[in-house]
Amino acid sequence: MSSGRYEMVVGLEVHVQLKTRTKAFCGCSTDFGAPPNANVCPVCLALPGALPVLNEHAVELAVRAALGLGCRIDPISVFARKNYFYPDLPKGYQISQFDQPLATGGSVFVGQSEKGAELRIGITRLHMEEDAGKSIHDRYPGETAIDLNRAGVPLIEIVSEPDIRTSAGAGAYLRTLKQILQYLDVSDVSMEEGSLRVDANISVRPPGQAKLGTKTEVKNMNSFSAVEKALDSEFARQCALLDSGGMVEQQTLLWDGARETVRPSRTKEGSHDYRYFPEPDLRPLMLDSKWVDHMRKDLPELPAARKTRLATEYGLSVVEVEQLTADPALAEYFEEVARAAGDGKAAYNWVMGEVQVALRTSSEEIGRFRVRPADLAQLIKLVRDGTISHTAAKRVFAQMVATGKPAAQVAADEGLAQVGDEGAIATWVDEVLNEHPGEAARYLAGEKKLQGVLVGFVMKKSKGRADPKRVNQLLSSRGG
Ligand SMILES: [Zn+2]
Repeated sequence: MSSGRYEMVVGLEVHVQLKTRTKAFCGCSTDFGAPPNANVCPVCLALPGALPVLNEHAVELAVRAALGLGCRIDPISVFARKNYFYPDLPKGYQISQFDQPLATGGSVFVGQSEKGAELRIGITRLHMEEDAGKSIHDRYPGETAIDLNRAGVPLIEIVSEPDIRTSAGAGAYLRTLKQILQYLDVSDVSMEEGSLRVDANISVRPPGQAKLGTKTEVKNMNSFSAVEKALDSEFARQCALLDSGGMVEQQTLLWDGARETVRPSRTKEGSHDYRYFPEPDLRPLMLDSKWVDHMRKDLPELPAARKTRLATEYGLSVVEVEQLTADPALAEYFEEVARAAGDGKAAYNWVMGEVQVALRTSSEEIGRFRVRPADLAQLIKLVRDGTISHTAAKRVFAQMVATGKPAAQVAADEGLAQVGDEGAIATWVDEVLNEHPGEAARYLAGEKKLQGVLVGFVMKKSKGRADPKRVNQLLSSRGG
């Protein structure tokens, strides 16, 4: 795929829809999935005389995102008109920010290199803008339909430095960025619903050369793995072009996921074409430094910090904290269970085991999961203090999922409390030995490894109620 004579240089532009109830400059709803052109008004339809009014909540979310990415917030930023014609852009321009963006100079930590160095991708800038409408080319044969529900929806654009050197590195950056935005709760970050979109700038150069090669821009990737594939494909194309004595032409390319190749876009764009100028209908955005400080103090714990803390506080491995923190809600659920149960390892095992299985089966989200953390913690305690066996606990858990009842009640209702009574266990053991004469004879003749199998039979016979410790003791005393 790659030619050793070249290295890949990639910078990414990520558009993120902010989680506001209404659009950036009018009161129209941002609901996804509304009937076409239901969420429109004179402002987002660009009717004559309609004036934009900035959505304060959008500013809050944009500032929160910028702070979470370690950016400097500029006390004064300026909205600008980005002029271009497109059928789904009724104003003939998009309100964006150009030479005075909201924030600059952050970074995202994406992991350690093989040599142990920190891998950090710089953020050049983060600015606010509005989305365009949507042209639908495939619904009505021979016609293009326009849906302006999305026109005016608030976005931030996060522009990275050209710090990315591999397609896998681009994927790692995007996944980390998405996770940070999720923790900040500023966006739904769903590529399927278009609330997170990625454009890639890519060039190649001989390793060690400081000067950047001519870049192309690749658009139209609908997943992070599509971004990785598109970068590999475009890298190979540029390398082959240079190897054959050709030159890379600056252009916009569209990723064709079905053919796994890029093709030139029909439109040619360069920043000079947009004739940016300050938006005369909006005043410069001035942010009070005290307010920004308050927003900074108000930031939630971010993924990197949470991973370190969970690993130390609960004695978990890197892999385990990665799994738990993949979804902020899952990490919170885990922590509530671990705290209430006083046992991080058991909480981890339950959350990544039975809880995940139950969630997958019912396609539920952890936030709406029927078994609340306190109830799961109680179940863990029942196992720890020997009230129920681990096997019985799984049955209790299944009932908790089905009924929403607390653990102790289910254990009592189902008669699953652990039986440690010598007589009862001896009866079960005798029955098992009678029912499995072959295994029994071999075990009694000294084949110790059969003990586990026999314990399993006893547990099954007792419906999980036998105390496995006692069963083992009893079998040992009879064995050999
Ligand atoms: Zn509107």
